[in-house]
Amino acid sequence: MNPTTSALSTVTLKAKRDQSIRRKHPWVFSGGIKHIQGDPQAGDWVKVCANKGGTLGWGHYAPQASIAVRMLTFDEHCPDDAWWHMQIAQAVAVRRDLNLFQSASQNACRLVHAEGDGLPGLIADLYNGVLVLQCHTPGMHRALPTLVEAFKEALGDTLVGIYDKSAKTLLKNGGEACEDGWVWGSAPAGHFATEHGHRFDIDWEKGQKTGFFLDQRENRALLGSLSKGKKVLNVFSYTGGFSIYAMKAGATEVHSLDSSQRALDVCEDNVRLNELPVQSHTSIQADALEYLKADELGDYDIVVLDPPAFAKRASARHAAVQGYKRINLRALQGMKPGSLLFTFSCSQAVDDTLFANTIVAAAIQAGRTVRILHRLHQPPDHPVNVFHPEGSYLKGLVVRVDD
Ligand code: SAH
Repeated sequence: MNPTTSALSTVTLKAKRDQSIRRKHPWVFSGGIKHIQGDPQAGDWVKVCANKGGTLGWGHYAPQASIAVRMLTFDEHCPDDAWWHMQIAQAVAVRRDLNLFQSASQNACRLVHAEGDGLPGLIADLYNGVLVLQCHTPGMHRALPTLVEAFKEALGDTLVGIYDKSAKTLLKNGGEACEDGWVWGSAPAGHFATEHGHRFDIDWEKGQKTGFFLDQRENRALLGSLSKGKKVLNVFSYTGGFSIYAMKAGATEVHSLDSSQRALDVCEDNVRLNELPVQSHTSIQADALEYLKADELGDYDIVVLDPPAFAKRASARHAAVQGYKRINLRALQGMKPGSLLFTFSCSQAVDDTLFANTIVAAAIQAGRTVRILHRLHQPPDHPVNVFHPEGSYLKGLVVRVDD
Protein backbone atom coordinates (compact mmCIF):
# COMPACT_ATOMS: atom_id res chain seq x y z
CA MET A 1 0.00 0.00 0.00
CA ASN A 2 2.48 2.62 -1.06
CA PRO A 3 1.57 5.85 -2.80
CA THR A 4 2.90 6.38 -6.29
CA THR A 5 6.28 8.06 -6.35
CA SER A 6 4.95 11.00 -8.36
CA ALA A 7 2.59 12.01 -5.53
CA LEU A 8 5.42 12.18 -3.03
CA SER A 9 6.95 15.28 -1.55
CA THR A 10 10.60 16.19 -1.26
CA VAL A 11 12.30 17.56 1.83
CA THR A 12 15.54 19.42 1.11
CA LEU A 13 18.00 19.88 3.95
CA LYS A 14 20.02 22.97 4.81
CA ALA A 15 23.72 23.05 3.98
CA LYS A 16 25.71 20.71 6.27
CA ARG A 17 22.56 19.26 7.76
CA ASP A 18 22.94 16.22 5.49
CA GLN A 19 26.06 15.00 7.32
CA SER A 20 24.37 12.90 9.98
CA ILE A 21 21.95 11.46 7.41
CA ARG A 22 24.90 10.44 5.21
CA ARG A 23 26.21 8.62 8.31
CA LYS A 24 22.84 6.85 8.40
CA HIS A 25 21.55 8.53 11.52
CA PRO A 26 17.78 8.26 10.95
CA TRP A 27 16.51 11.59 12.36
CA VAL A 28 15.84 14.78 10.37
CA PHE A 29 15.08 17.64 12.78
CA SER A 30 12.61 20.31 11.67
CA GLY A 31 15.35 22.94 12.14
CA GLY A 32 17.51 21.21 9.52
CA ILE A 33 14.97 21.55 6.72
CA LYS A 34 15.59 24.21 4.02
CA HIS A 35 12.37 23.72 2.07
CA ILE A 36 9.65 21.24 1.30
CA GLN A 37 8.33 20.63 -2.17
CA GLY A 38 4.74 19.39 -2.18
CA ASP A 39 2.28 19.33 0.69
CA PRO A 40 3.14 16.30 2.81
CA GLN A 41 0.74 15.29 5.55
CA ALA A 42 1.52 13.49 8.81
CA GLY A 43 2.48 9.92 7.96
CA ASP A 44 3.34 10.48 4.29
CA TRP A 45 6.51 9.16 2.73
CA VAL A 46 8.92 11.95 1.82
CA LYS A 47 12.08 11.87 -0.24
CA VAL A 48 14.98 13.53 1.62
CA CYS A 49 17.54 15.41 -0.49
CA ALA A 50 20.81 17.18 0.24
CA ASN A 51 21.08 20.96 -0.03
CA LYS A 52 22.75 20.73 -3.42
CA GLY A 53 20.43 17.98 -4.65
CA GLY A 54 20.86 14.21 -4.62
CA THR A 55 18.59 11.75 -2.85
CA LEU A 56 19.69 10.81 0.68
CA GLY A 57 16.82 8.40 1.28
CA TRP A 58 13.17 8.10 2.29
CA GLY A 59 11.34 8.58 5.53
CA HIS A 60 8.04 9.16 7.29
CA TYR A 61 6.94 12.76 7.75
CA ALA A 62 5.65 14.07 11.10
CA PRO A 63 5.13 17.85 10.90
CA GLN A 64 4.23 18.30 14.57
CA ALA A 65 7.29 16.58 15.97
CA SER A 66 10.77 18.04 16.44
CA ILE A 67 12.01 15.00 14.52
CA ALA A 68 10.20 15.93 11.30
CA VAL A 69 11.33 12.90 9.30
CA ARG A 70 12.35 9.45 10.46
CA MET A 71 14.44 7.80 7.75
CA LEU A 72 13.63 4.23 6.80
CA THR A 73 15.96 3.83 3.84
CA PHE A 74 19.12 5.50 2.66
CA ASP A 75 18.79 4.82 -1.06
CA GLU A 76 17.03 6.04 -4.21
CA HIS A 77 13.84 4.05 -3.98
CA CYS A 78 10.71 4.53 -1.91
CA PRO A 79 10.12 1.33 0.10
CA ASP A 80 7.45 -1.05 -1.23
CA ASP A 81 5.67 -4.01 0.37
CA ALA A 82 8.57 -6.36 -0.42
CA TRP A 83 10.85 -4.03 1.56
CA TRP A 84 8.57 -4.21 4.62
CA HIS A 85 8.45 -8.00 4.43
CA MET A 86 12.23 -8.15 4.23
CA GLN A 87 12.74 -5.82 7.23
CA ILE A 88 10.35 -7.82 9.40
CA ALA A 89 11.81 -11.16 8.28
CA GLN A 90 15.27 -9.91 9.23
CA ALA A 91 14.22 -8.61 12.64
CA VAL A 92 12.48 -11.92 13.42
CA ALA A 93 15.53 -13.91 12.21
CA VAL A 94 17.78 -12.02 14.66
CA ARG A 95 15.62 -13.20 17.59
CA ARG A 96 15.11 -16.68 16.17
CA ASP A 97 18.89 -17.12 15.94
CA LEU A 98 19.11 -16.07 19.61
CA ASN A 99 16.45 -18.69 20.52
CA LEU A 100 14.34 -16.08 22.22
CA PHE A 101 10.82 -17.18 21.38
CA GLN A 102 10.70 -20.76 20.12
CA SER A 103 10.51 -22.82 23.31
CA ALA A 104 7.88 -23.39 25.98
CA SER A 105 10.23 -21.99 28.63
CA GLN A 106 11.23 -18.89 26.64
CA ASN A 107 8.57 -17.44 24.37
CA ALA A 108 8.57 -13.69 25.06
CA CYS A 109 10.89 -11.14 23.49
CA ARG A 110 10.99 -7.90 21.55
CA LEU A 111 10.83 -8.55 17.80
CA VAL A 112 11.27 -4.97 16.58
CA HIS A 113 13.16 -2.32 18.52
CA ALA A 114 12.53 0.80 16.43
CA GLU A 115 15.79 2.43 15.23
CA GLY A 116 17.72 -0.59 16.54
CA ASP A 117 16.10 -2.63 13.78
CA GLY A 118 16.02 0.11 11.14
CA LEU A 119 12.32 0.73 11.78
CA PRO A 120 12.04 4.04 13.65
CA GLY A 121 8.59 4.44 15.19
CA LEU A 122 7.81 0.74 15.62
CA ILE A 123 7.94 -1.43 18.73
CA ALA A 124 6.79 -5.05 18.44
CA ASP A 125 6.78 -7.34 21.48
CA LEU A 126 5.90 -11.03 21.27
CA TYR A 127 4.27 -12.74 24.25
CA ASN A 128 3.82 -16.45 23.58
CA GLY A 129 2.32 -15.93 20.13
CA VAL A 130 0.56 -12.66 20.95
CA LEU A 131 2.25 -9.79 19.15
CA VAL A 132 1.69 -6.34 20.63
CA LEU A 133 2.50 -3.51 18.22
CA GLN A 134 3.09 0.04 19.34
CA CYS A 135 3.45 2.67 16.61
CA HIS A 136 5.03 5.96 17.63
CA THR A 137 4.62 7.73 14.28
CA PRO A 138 1.63 8.25 11.97
CA GLY A 139 3.68 6.79 9.07
CA MET A 140 4.28 3.55 10.92
CA HIS A 141 0.62 3.24 11.85
CA ARG A 142 -0.39 3.71 8.24
CA ALA A 143 1.82 0.73 7.37
CA LEU A 144 -0.11 -1.48 9.80
CA PRO A 145 -1.92 -3.65 7.18
CA THR A 146 1.41 -4.42 5.48
CA LEU A 147 3.08 -5.05 8.83
CA VAL A 148 0.37 -7.53 9.83
CA GLU A 149 0.96 -9.52 6.63
CA ALA A 150 4.73 -9.36 7.07
CA PHE A 151 4.56 -10.66 10.67
CA LYS A 152 2.17 -13.43 9.65
CA GLU A 153 4.62 -14.51 6.98
CA ALA A 154 7.68 -14.28 9.25
CA LEU A 155 6.15 -16.02 12.28
CA GLY A 156 3.81 -18.58 10.68
CA ASP A 157 2.09 -20.87 13.20
CA THR A 158 3.83 -19.19 16.15
CA LEU A 159 1.46 -16.25 15.85
CA VAL A 160 -1.98 -16.39 17.50
CA GLY A 161 -2.95 -12.72 17.54
CA ILE A 162 -1.79 -9.18 16.78
CA TYR A 163 -2.88 -6.40 19.13
CA ASP A 164 -2.42 -2.76 18.14
CA LYS A 165 -1.61 -0.60 21.16
CA SER A 166 -0.87 2.70 19.45
CA ALA A 167 -3.72 4.96 20.61
CA LYS A 168 -1.68 6.84 23.24
CA THR A 169 1.68 6.90 21.50
CA LEU A 170 0.17 8.12 18.23
CA LEU A 171 -1.77 10.96 19.82
CA LYS A 172 1.39 12.08 21.58
CA ASN A 173 3.20 12.21 18.23
CA GLY A 174 0.68 14.10 16.15
CA GLY A 175 -1.21 11.11 14.77
CA GLU A 176 -4.95 10.72 14.41
CA ALA A 177 -7.09 9.27 17.16
CA CYS A 178 -7.40 5.48 16.95
CA GLU A 179 -8.49 2.71 19.27
CA ASP A 180 -6.39 -0.08 20.69
CA GLY A 181 -7.53 -3.55 19.76
CA TRP A 182 -6.93 -6.78 17.88
CA VAL A 183 -6.00 -6.37 14.23
CA TRP A 184 -5.64 -10.10 13.63
CA GLY A 185 -6.54 -13.20 15.70
CA SER A 186 -6.78 -12.95 19.51
CA ALA A 187 -5.35 -14.44 22.69
CA PRO A 188 -6.65 -17.75 24.02
CA ALA A 189 -8.19 -17.74 27.52
CA GLY A 190 -5.66 -18.10 30.33
CA HIS A 191 -2.85 -16.87 28.10
CA PHE A 192 0.51 -16.24 29.75
CA ALA A 193 4.07 -15.75 28.53
CA THR A 194 7.21 -17.49 29.74
CA GLU A 195 10.63 -15.95 30.24
CA HIS A 196 13.53 -18.21 31.30
CA GLY A 197 10.87 -20.60 32.64
CA HIS A 198 9.08 -17.90 34.66
CA ARG A 199 5.41 -17.34 33.84
CA PHE A 200 3.92 -13.88 33.43
CA ASP A 201 0.40 -12.65 32.91
CA ILE A 202 0.82 -9.78 30.42
CA ASP A 203 -1.54 -6.84 30.74
CA TRP A 204 -1.25 -5.43 27.20
CA GLU A 205 -4.65 -3.73 27.34
CA LYS A 206 -4.22 -1.60 30.44
CA GLY A 207 -0.60 -2.16 31.41
CA GLN A 208 2.33 0.13 30.72
CA LYS A 209 4.09 0.19 27.33
CA THR A 210 3.20 -3.08 25.58
CA GLY A 211 2.32 -4.71 28.92
CA PHE A 212 5.67 -5.88 30.24
CA PHE A 213 9.31 -4.75 30.50
CA LEU A 214 11.15 -7.32 28.41
CA ASP A 215 14.34 -5.29 28.55
CA GLN A 216 15.15 -6.48 32.09
CA ARG A 217 15.07 -10.22 31.26
CA GLU A 218 18.80 -10.92 31.67
CA ASN A 219 19.12 -8.60 34.67
CA ARG A 220 16.24 -10.41 36.37
CA ALA A 221 18.08 -13.70 35.72
CA LEU A 222 21.19 -12.27 37.41
CA LEU A 223 19.11 -11.22 40.41
CA GLY A 224 17.66 -14.73 40.57
CA SER A 225 21.14 -16.24 40.65
CA LEU A 226 21.93 -14.22 43.80
CA SER A 227 18.62 -14.48 45.66
CA LYS A 228 18.62 -17.89 47.38
CA GLY A 229 17.99 -17.46 51.10
CA LYS A 230 17.79 -13.66 50.78
CA LYS A 231 15.22 -11.04 51.69
CA VAL A 232 14.55 -8.85 48.67
CA LEU A 233 12.88 -5.45 48.19
CA ASN A 234 11.80 -4.75 44.61
CA VAL A 235 11.12 -1.01 44.31
CA PHE A 236 9.20 0.14 41.21
CA SER A 237 8.21 -3.51 40.83
CA TYR A 238 5.47 -3.06 38.19
CA THR A 239 4.03 -6.60 37.73
CA GLY A 240 6.84 -8.22 39.68
CA GLY A 241 9.41 -9.24 37.07
CA PHE A 242 12.33 -9.15 39.50
CA SER A 243 10.17 -10.46 42.37
CA ILE A 244 9.21 -13.67 40.57
CA TYR A 245 12.81 -14.46 39.65
CA ALA A 246 13.90 -13.88 43.27
CA MET A 247 11.11 -16.06 44.69
CA LYS A 248 11.66 -18.90 42.25
CA ALA A 249 15.34 -18.88 43.10
CA GLY A 250 14.53 -19.40 46.78
CA ALA A 251 14.44 -15.94 48.33
CA THR A 252 13.01 -16.24 51.85
CA GLU A 253 10.89 -13.12 51.54
CA VAL A 254 10.14 -10.69 48.70
CA HIS A 255 8.50 -7.28 48.99
CA SER A 256 7.23 -5.63 45.79
CA LEU A 257 6.67 -1.88 45.95
CA ASP A 258 4.84 0.19 43.34
CA SER A 259 2.55 3.21 43.28
CA SER A 260 0.12 1.35 40.99
CA GLN A 261 -2.32 -1.00 42.74
CA ARG A 262 -3.24 -2.47 39.36
CA ALA A 263 0.39 -3.43 38.70
CA LEU A 264 0.61 -5.01 42.18
CA ASP A 265 -2.58 -7.01 41.56
CA VAL A 266 -1.03 -8.48 38.41
CA CYS A 267 2.18 -9.08 40.40
CA GLU A 268 0.19 -11.19 42.89
CA ASP A 269 -1.42 -13.09 39.99
CA ASN A 270 2.10 -13.81 38.79
CA VAL A 271 3.11 -15.20 42.20
CA ARG A 272 0.16 -17.65 41.97
CA LEU A 273 0.80 -18.41 38.28
CA ASN A 274 4.29 -19.61 39.23
CA GLU A 275 2.92 -21.65 42.16
CA LEU A 276 5.09 -19.74 44.61
CA PRO A 277 4.30 -19.50 48.35
CA VAL A 278 2.04 -16.44 48.64
CA GLN A 279 3.00 -16.00 52.30
CA SER A 280 6.59 -15.17 51.21
CA HIS A 281 5.42 -12.24 49.11
CA THR A 282 4.15 -8.83 50.23
CA SER A 283 2.83 -6.06 47.98
CA ILE A 284 3.42 -2.51 49.16
CA GLN A 285 1.43 0.20 47.44
CA ALA A 286 3.42 3.35 48.18
CA ASP A 287 5.46 6.18 46.79
CA ALA A 288 9.03 4.92 46.43
CA LEU A 289 10.70 7.99 47.83
CA GLU A 290 8.42 8.05 50.86
CA TYR A 291 9.12 4.38 51.60
CA LEU A 292 12.86 4.76 51.13
CA LYS A 293 12.69 7.64 53.60
CA ALA A 294 11.00 5.52 56.18
CA ASP A 295 14.22 3.88 57.30
CA GLU A 296 12.94 0.41 56.54
CA LEU A 297 15.85 -0.81 54.49
CA GLY A 298 18.11 -2.31 57.16
CA ASP A 299 16.39 -5.66 56.91
CA TYR A 300 16.92 -6.40 53.22
CA ASP A 301 19.78 -8.34 51.65
CA ILE A 302 18.98 -7.09 48.13
CA VAL A 303 17.22 -3.93 46.98
CA VAL A 304 16.18 -3.30 43.35
CA LEU A 305 15.55 0.26 42.13
CA ASP A 306 14.12 0.28 38.59
CA PRO A 307 12.29 3.61 38.23
CA PRO A 308 10.49 4.87 35.11
CA ALA A 309 12.52 7.19 32.83
CA PHE A 310 13.19 10.36 34.83
CA ALA A 311 14.43 12.21 31.70
CA LYS A 312 12.45 11.73 28.50
CA ARG A 313 14.57 14.39 26.75
CA ALA A 314 17.94 16.10 27.16
CA SER A 315 16.40 19.24 28.70
CA ALA A 316 15.21 17.15 31.65
CA ARG A 317 18.65 15.62 32.27
CA HIS A 318 19.59 17.83 35.21
CA ALA A 319 16.40 17.15 37.14
CA ALA A 320 16.67 13.45 36.30
CA VAL A 321 20.19 13.20 37.72
CA GLN A 322 18.97 14.80 40.94
CA GLY A 323 16.10 12.31 41.05
CA TYR A 324 18.45 9.32 40.60
CA LYS A 325 20.81 10.71 43.23
CA ARG A 326 17.98 11.20 45.71
CA ILE A 327 16.57 7.67 45.55
CA ASN A 328 19.99 6.01 45.44
CA LEU A 329 21.24 8.10 48.36
CA ARG A 330 18.26 7.00 50.43
CA ALA A 331 18.93 3.36 49.55
CA LEU A 332 22.66 3.57 50.22
CA GLN A 333 22.10 5.30 53.57
CA GLY A 334 19.64 2.69 54.78
CA MET A 335 20.97 -0.63 53.49
CA LYS A 336 22.84 -2.98 55.81
CA PRO A 337 26.53 -3.89 55.39
CA GLY A 338 27.03 -6.70 52.89
CA SER A 339 23.79 -6.03 51.01
CA LEU A 340 23.39 -5.62 47.25
CA LEU A 341 21.75 -2.79 45.35
CA PHE A 342 20.51 -3.36 41.78
CA THR A 343 20.03 0.17 40.46
CA PHE A 344 18.85 1.18 36.98
CA SER A 345 18.13 4.09 34.67
CA CYS A 346 16.17 3.77 31.44
CA SER A 347 16.55 7.48 30.55
CA GLN A 348 18.08 7.85 27.10
CA ALA A 349 19.40 11.29 28.04
CA VAL A 350 21.42 9.96 31.00
CA ASP A 351 24.34 7.92 29.67
CA ASP A 352 26.34 5.16 31.41
CA THR A 353 29.03 7.50 32.69
CA LEU A 354 26.63 10.10 34.03
CA PHE A 355 24.57 7.42 35.76
CA ALA A 356 27.64 5.79 37.33
CA ASN A 357 28.88 9.22 38.47
CA THR A 358 25.50 9.88 40.06
CA ILE A 359 25.77 6.66 42.07
CA VAL A 360 29.33 7.62 43.09
CA ALA A 361 28.05 11.01 44.27
CA ALA A 362 25.32 9.28 46.29
CA ALA A 363 27.87 6.86 47.80
CA ILE A 364 30.18 9.72 48.81
CA GLN A 365 27.32 11.57 50.47
CA ALA A 366 26.09 8.41 52.20
CA GLY A 367 29.63 7.82 53.50
CA ARG A 368 29.47 4.11 52.64
CA THR A 369 31.96 1.71 51.08
CA VAL A 370 30.46 0.80 47.72
CA ARG A 371 31.87 -1.63 45.15
CA ILE A 372 30.57 -2.01 41.60
CA LEU A 373 30.11 -5.74 40.90
CA HIS A 374 28.24 -5.65 37.59
CA ARG A 375 27.49 -3.13 34.86
CA LEU A 376 24.21 -4.01 33.19
CA HIS A 377 22.56 -3.12 29.89
CA GLN A 378 19.62 -3.93 27.65
CA PRO A 379 19.46 -7.45 26.15
CA PRO A 380 20.12 -8.38 22.49
CA ASP A 381 16.47 -8.23 21.43
CA HIS A 382 16.77 -4.47 22.14
CA PRO A 383 19.73 -3.95 19.77
CA VAL A 384 21.51 -0.64 19.24
CA ASN A 385 21.90 0.58 15.68
CA VAL A 386 25.57 1.66 15.48
CA PHE A 387 24.51 4.77 13.58
CA HIS A 388 22.02 5.71 16.33
CA PRO A 389 23.87 5.47 19.66
CA GLU A 390 20.90 7.13 21.41
CA GLY A 391 19.28 3.69 21.23
CA SER A 392 21.44 2.51 24.12
CA TYR A 393 19.08 3.54 26.91
CA LEU A 394 19.07 0.96 29.72
CA LYS A 395 21.93 0.99 32.17
CA GLY A 396 22.30 -0.55 35.57
CA LEU A 397 24.81 -1.25 38.30
CA VAL A 398 24.93 -3.96 40.90
CA VAL A 399 26.80 -2.58 43.88
CA ARG A 400 27.70 -4.09 47.22
CA VAL A 401 27.23 -1.77 50.13
CA ASP A 402 29.50 -2.05 53.17
CA ASP A 403 30.24 0.18 56.16
N1 SAH B 1 11.01 -3.31 37.26
C1 SAH B 1 9.82 -3.47 36.49
C2 SAH B 1 9.53 -2.29 35.59
C3 SAH B 1 9.39 -0.96 36.31
S1 SAH B 1 8.48 0.23 35.41
C4 SAH B 1 9.87 -4.79 35.71
O1 SAH B 1 10.93 -5.46 35.69
O2 SAH B 1 8.87 -5.16 35.11
C5 SAH B 1 8.34 1.53 36.56
C6 SAH B 1 7.28 1.33 37.64
O3 SAH B 1 7.42 2.41 38.55
C7 SAH B 1 5.83 1.38 37.17
O4 SAH B 1 5.17 0.20 37.54
C8 SAH B 1 5.21 2.59 37.90
O5 SAH B 1 3.87 2.35 38.35
C9 SAH B 1 6.13 2.73 39.08
N2 SAH B 1 6.23 4.08 39.68
C10 SAH B 1 6.31 5.27 39.06
N3 SAH B 1 6.48 6.26 39.95
C11 SAH B 1 6.50 5.68 41.18
C12 SAH B 1 6.67 6.17 42.52
N4 SAH B 1 6.85 7.48 42.75
N5 SAH B 1 6.67 5.28 43.53
C13 SAH B 1 6.49 3.97 43.31
N6 SAH B 1 6.34 3.44 42.08
C14 SAH B 1 6.35 4.28 41.03
